[in-house]
Amino acid sequence: MNPLRTIFLTEIAKGLALTLRKMFSRPVTVQYPEEKKPVAPGFRGRHALVRDPETGRERCIGCLRCAKVCPSRCIYIETERDPETRRLVVKRYDIEALRCVFCGYCEEVCPVNAVVLTEFYEYAGERREDLYFDKERLLQNWDEFIVTQKRPYFNPYWKPRGIPESRLPAPKRKAEGV
Ligand code: SF4
Ligand code: SF4
Repeated sequence: MNPLRTIFLTEIAKGLALTLRKMFSRPVTVQYPEEKKPVAPGFRGRHALVRDPETGRERCIGCLRCAKVCPSRCIYIETERDPETRRLVVKRYDIEALRCVFCGYCEEVCPVNAVVLTEFYEYAGERREDLYFDKERLLQNWDEFIVTQKRPYFNPYWKPRGIPESRLPAPKRKAEGV
């Protein structure tokens, strides 16, 4: 032990100087929930199904790719053929959010950018069912999210990494936001 440092109480002086300095520096805490910090780019939050602005319906075409790629097996889809047009119609699209690991594979694999992990993070539930999102709830999640965003909106995870833009299908290109 250094006797001079003990006699002159230098450690206490250093501590007091640090306290004084911090009293006049900008605080790092925020007054949540009144004050909110912006999320990091590409933040993966509450799930949503994109509503096509032209048709008012889900963009999803029921190809099942997201359900197949999901490592948590938490996406459940049922489709049926429209008797008149013979096109696939999405009858059921559910995401069990409590099982999701937020890997983003579903949004990356979707050929039409129909599913998204939004930047919305203030969601919780008292019961398991509260975080079981069916199709209507997923569309509602999108409606609540998109009003906070600039249009056209393009999520960074809609574009698979490592593939040149020119080789991507049109909806996966950045110019084709929603
Ligand atoms: S983010 Fe990953 S785990 Fe969650 S629903 Fe999508 S593919 Fe499944
Ligand atoms: S990958 Fe996209 S279009 Fe295909 S079922 Fe999933 S959300 Fe729908």
